Amino acid sequence: MPILVFAEHHNGIFKKSTFEALSYAQDLAHASKSIVTAVVIGQVTSQLSSLGAYGANSVISVLGEGTDFFTTEAYSEIIAAEATKINANTLIISNTYCGKSIASRIAVKLKAGIISGVVELPKSDFSVKKTAFSNKASVMVRLKSDKKVFALVPNSYEVKTYDLSPSISESTSNVNAATIRTKSINISKVSGKIPLTEADIVVSGGRGMKGPENWGLIEELAQLLGAATACSKPVADMDWRPHEEHVGQTGITIKPTLYIAVGISGAIQHLAGVSSSKVICVINKDPEAPFFKAADYGIVGDAFEILPKLIERTKQLQA
Ligand SMILES: Cc1cc2nc3c(=O)[nH]c(=O)nc-3n(C[C@H](O)[C@H](O)[C@H](O)COP(=O)(O)OP(=O)(O)OC[C@H]3O[C@@H](n4cnc5c(N)ncnc54)[C@H](O)[C@@H]3O)c2cc1C
Repeated sequence: MPILVFAEHHNGIFKKSTFEALSYAQDLAHASKSIVTAVVIGQVTSQLSSLGAYGANSVISVLGEGTDFFTTEAYSEIIAAEATKINANTLIISNTYCGKSIASRIAVKLKAGIISGVVELPKSDFSVKKTAFSNKASVMVRLKSDKKVFALVPNSYEVKTYDLSPSISESTSNVNAATIRTKSINISKVSGKIPLTEADIVVSGGRGMKGPENWGLIEELAQLLGAATACSKPVADMDWRPHEEHVGQTGITIKPTLYIAVGISGAIQHLAGVSSSKVICVINKDPEAPFFKAADYGIVGDAFEILPKLIERTKQLQA
């Protein structure tokens, strides 16, 4: 039975989370002797065939009504329709902002069971490990339904490469424009920056940075390391940084290879969004700061002395 993957893209370029979802699907397909179809909605600048390298056996490109920009109504309808057409019994959707908002709608349309926050391949009885309680726990869940939707946590599954040449087909959306109740009025795009959820390295600042005028240090280190920048909630609340940088329980959940936290105390609500990072490095002048308990590396000291030294040393190493 075919497996359908929603191939999400940003500004026409496929996201890393899409490659993870495809790799996950291909490994699942290999175990269950099925094939993987990627559904791409709207125009893309990336080559559709490039998805073969990450596990797609075939690609469906859907254009037409409701495909120009993301809405939960249109996208969930399109994906459910394509899943029905190819008789897919399993759908893999990345648990991104967009993915989260459509996965359950698609499950309802297909009368499928759904597991969100999936972090591993299912076992032979279709029980799957998923995160729970803001990553503080994990739970095994088994779906009894014939059709299944798995929402895969970004950065939880390794991107693999395959030597596949996918067949490409086109499809036209059957969405009725009148049923789309969401209208996009203005889109402001952040350009030239690494998206936080895609970043391998993240440099993050908290209230210990004292004010927005000091963020040059965070940005310079991030730029040298090819990292994205993030911040704690109060920093975003005080408008020192934009809200899209806020990580934690009420912000974005990230899972980079390296998370460098500067002047952040390590409150439980902050850790909820970053504790799955592979390596955590904490810079804090208070040796009792709770973040040190969650850190792999800790530097006790003043950020305004340590960051310039780190920047200098990084420049030397890169030279
Ligand atoms: C329902 C709820 C949801 C929340 N959701 C989130 C969330 O999603 N994300 C989030 O981040 N928070 C969240 N919070 C807030 C959270 O509880 C903390 O208040 C917040 O994370 C603290 O931010 P901070 O570490 O930047 O600031 P502070 O707690 O003020 O810590 C600043 C740290 O900087 C250190 N410091 C000060 N000066 C320096 C210096 N010169 N050099 C080095 N270190 C220095 C201090 O020792 C201190 O540890 C939530 C709270 C609630 C109640």
